Amino acid sequence: MSGARFAVTAARPSDAGRGAGRPGQRPHWVLSGTEEEEQVPEGDTVWLAGRRLHEALAGKELVLSDFRVPQLATVSLVGETVLEVASVGKHLLTRLSSGRSLHTHFRMDGTWHLYSPGSPWRGGPDHEVRVVLGVADRVAVGYRLPVVELVTDESSVVGHLGPDIVTEGFDPSEAVRRLAADPDREIGMALLDQRAVAGIGNLYRLEALFLRGVNPWAPVSSVDLEPLVQVARKLMRANLRHAQQSTTGSMRRGEEHWVFERPRKPCRRCGTRISVADQGEPPRARITYWCPRCQPSVAG
Ligand SMILES: [Zn+2]
Repeated sequence: MSGARFAVTAARPSDAGRGAGRPGQRPHWVLSGTEEEEQVPEGDTVWLAGRRLHEALAGKELVLSDFRVPQLATVSLVGETVLEVASVGKHLLTRLSSGRSLHTHFRMDGTWHLYSPGSPWRGGPDHEVRVVLGVADRVAVGYRLPVVELVTDESSVVGHLGPDIVTEGFDPSEAVRRLAADPDREIGMALLDQRAVAGIGNLYRLEALFLRGVNPWAPVSSVDLEPLVQVARKLMRANLRHAQQSTTGSMRRGEEHWVFERPRKPCRRCGTRISVADQGEPPRARITYWCPRCQPSVAG
């Protein structure tokens, strides 16, 4: 199995030059040498990445440690044991026997690849490698990770986050309370606020809004929040353990989503053409898809 690898990438499908991003599939762990898919990560993707890294590293001693970010260039973790790898929202925490945690975040472009020792690395050019961690039988290589830091207090990096929507013990009432705290905000933007509810990205906010018939620009105060949060959670949990992100239940190409990445295509419920526009201000503006008939604006 020397050629076996696992990879999760998290780049926009529109980014040129790194393989064909296919709408409807997310970055995923692959066992073959095929090109990985590319997409902005959501909490379910990060959860899956954390699970794969955990399976590869947990309970094992690090025999290789190579940080290629300036602030950690002189740090070595060799000799430490990886206790576990956990995801919190879109953050990954690799917990170490010294009590420290390696905190990484994918943002738009990051990737973790897993290789057998001696296998060629295929995640990108060498200068894009940010961190390498190796145990006896696995090497984990982090590419293009915008956040790589060692922390002793995890709350300093994830303490601000709202409840993690994909976890078993998720508390919808706390998420609703945090969302409702800013009643005039547009619901489409509020759902992306990781301080209110952690883990929701562009795909699931748009699909949940469609399924609830809520316009993305509606003020939070006009929305029945708990069912909306529960729909997003249900969609994400349904996709936790496999690579494809279907919200319709269909895994057939082009049928996986209700509105996401379907500009000007007919709505699956009413036939109206799906609208597309940016929501929010640059640089945080997010491309937004909705059905103008199923999700009418509050102003009519
Ligand atoms: Zn419609």
